[in-house]
Parts: sequence; structure tokens; C-alpha cells
Amino acid sequence: MDTKQLLAWAAQYHTPNYSRAPICLVRGDGVRVWDSDGKEYLDFGAGLAVASLGHCHPRVTGAIREAAATLLHVSNLYHTAPQIHLAKLLCEHSFADRVFFGNSGAEANEAALKLARKYARERYASDRYEIIATHNAFHGRTFATVTATGQAKYQHGFEPLVPGFKHVPYNDLRAMERAIDNRTAAILVEPIQGEGGVHVPDDDYLPGLRKLCDESGALLILDEIQTGVGRTGRLWAYEHAGIEPDIMTLAKALANGVPIGAMLTREEIARALGPGTHGSTFGGTPFVTSVALATMQTIIEEKMPERAARLGRALMDGLRRLAAGPTGITEVRGRGLLIGVALDRPVAPIVDACRDAGLLVLSAGERVLRLAPPLIVETRDCDEALAIIGRALAPRA
Ligand SMILES: *Cc1c(COP(=O)(O)O)cnc(C)c1O
Repeated sequence: MDTKQLLAWAAQYHTPNYSRAPICLVRGDGVRVWDSDGKEYLDFGAGLAVASLGHCHPRVTGAIREAAATLLHVSNLYHTAPQIHLAKLLCEHSFADRVFFGNSGAEANEAALKLARKYARERYASDRYEIIATHNAFHGRTFATVTATGQAKYQHGFEPLVPGFKHVPYNDLRAMERAIDNRTAAILVEPIQGEGGVHVPDDDYLPGLRKLCDESGALLILDEIQTGVGRTGRLWAYEHAGIEPDIMTLAKALANGVPIGAMLTREEIARALGPGTHGSTFGGTPFVTSVALATMQTIIEEKMPERAARLGRALMDGLRRLAAGPTGITEVRGRGLLIGVALDRPVAPIVDACRDAGLLVLSAGERVLRLAPPLIVETRDCDEALAIIGRALAPRA
């Protein structure tokens, strides 16, 4: 394959909204991917925290093959067994009683925001529609979700944004307490801020938000699009905090790479979404839901959350050993296999250096290296990644 020609066409035909690395990936297997020149990479981003079972996992590939040869799509005018089984499995393994399926994280959050407004208006008052989100959050790119996303760089140029949103600093219970009033329909937060820099809140933050919501009647929406499905060492990140949300959104790893989004909630709240109030053409097709079902069953049966906890601890220990040397690491933080390595300098050249050395990593903001490898990663893969990161961060002689 002529890589130069492909990249020239990419430069000519794509909208220029992504800053992509100058490689073209053609194949994946487990924690590894290969580019069009045959070069091999360890994928410590798992796409964007998506391929938790690695690339081309046999159970996922099997489900894709079977669904493609059985029934790819029918509309939500009819029932299909995989969608029912997936909703049942998600409810049996979470706080939730009801599930709505869409196609992406942003769509899951849109469903959550629409539901919260409708519920609060019907249950309390017609002017109870405000959503409080946090600075530095990431909730998606549609108008409502980019409004909820508390980062000016994602909003600039797209104004006017959706009315009825407020932002307060993350991990600041007092600020949230001051912001809540009788117009607050819901609080929307990530249990760990992913995109914003892998910020793990204090242990009392989520329980504190739960209490504020219980006292005020506002709904607690947890965006677990990045943290869910085992990544942080529990199936859902809220389990670390010993609380339950009113609404939870999922996407990324839920079908290991096939596009899906899900919005989970309790019975009483779900009732606000009566027939005809919301929907999606592609949401929850038999194809995506059978792939998600295979993914979820594998994650649960093979105890992937425990594995994420164990390997995450070892990887963070290794990174902290690197931090003890002259690497410019200022902090190593995270939970399970969602890890942020804060640097004293811009991260972009380090991401490039790692890639040149055969390791794909993510960034989170300007100065944070983000690691989110597949949960099937082995200790020897982590050792290889640590060696490459160590060399990329070593001072130039
Ligand atoms: C990725 C992400 C989203 C957006 O998901 P899309 O599928 O890109 O719409 C929303 N919230 C969080 C926490 C995410 O990590």
C-alpha cells in the first residue's frame, strides 16, 4: 500500500478537524496494531478507551460475523432479542431498571439531558430545567453536550450555545452547593474527568453530590462513557464511591469498537420518556447489541475489572518509579487502567516520540499523557510500554 499517496488524499479530501498522526493503520490483534508500512505498535490508547478486549477479540469477531449473517438492522418499531438481552444484562449488573440505546457517547448524554429536563419539569416545575456541569469536563460535541462540556476551546465559534447550563469547578462540593437551586434539574459529572486530564476527585466528592441531589431533588447524572465497563477496576466507576446515580451514560467500550451509546436510569425517572418522546433510527440494532452483549459477557465472565485494577496498580507503580528520575513527570494519577501522567512540559512531542518507538498513547489536555490500554494487556506489554515512555521522557544528552 502506498502510504504517501493515502496521506496525500487524506490531506485533500478530509475536513481538517482532526490533527492526525501521519500513519495509516490497517490491522489489529490484541493489544497490537500495524500500519500500512508494516510497522507494529502497542496500542495503549485502545482507540480512545474503546477496544477494552483488544483488537479482533474472538468473541467479539464471532458476534459480528453471526449478527451480519442473521439480522443486521430492523427499526425500533419492533423488538429484537439481542437488544432485550443487553438491556436486561445492563440492569442486572448496575443500579438501573431501564435502558435507552443510541449510537455514541454524545447521543447517550443527549438522552440523559433531555430525560432530566422532562422529568424535572413534569415532577416539579416548568422552570426547573437547569443543568450544572463542571469546568474541564468532556461530554461530547453535539450542541447540548458541547455546552455541557466545560472547556471554551470546544465551544469557540459555535455560539449561541444551548441555554440552561451552568458550570462550577470540578471536585468542589461548596461551589456545587452554592450553584444548586430550585431550578436545577440535574448535575452532570464524570466520576473521573478523562479528556480533561484524568482528574480523580476526592473520596467524598461523589457521595457529597449524591447528598446534594437527594436534598434538592436534582438528578445525579454520571457520564461513565470513558470510566464504565471495567476500565477503572470496577464495572462502573461509581462503585468506588459507594453511591448510585439516577442516570448513567455509556458508550466507548460497551461494544468494543462498534458504535453504541446507552442511557441507563431508574424506573420512576424512565417513566418521563413516554412513547414518541425520544428515539434513534440506528439505536440498539440487533447487530450492535449482540456485539455489546458478547463484549459485556466477556468483561464480566473473565473478571476484566479485577484485571484492570491489578495491572493498573502495577503500571502506576512503574510510572511512579520513572517519576523518581529526571523525566519531568509531576504526577501519576488515575484508577485501574485509566491513567494520567502529568508533565512539566507539552505532551505532544512525547506522544510523537512514543509512536515513533512503537507505542500509541493518548494525551488529555496540553500536559498530560493518558494511558488507556486494552484491559487484556499483559505485564510484559506494560514493561515494554514503560521502557518506551522512559526513553521518550529521558533528558536529551
Ligand atoms: C468520549 C466521551 C464522550 C463523547 O463520546 P462520543 O462517542 O465521541 O460522542 C462523552 N463523555 C465522555 C466522558 C467521553 O470520554
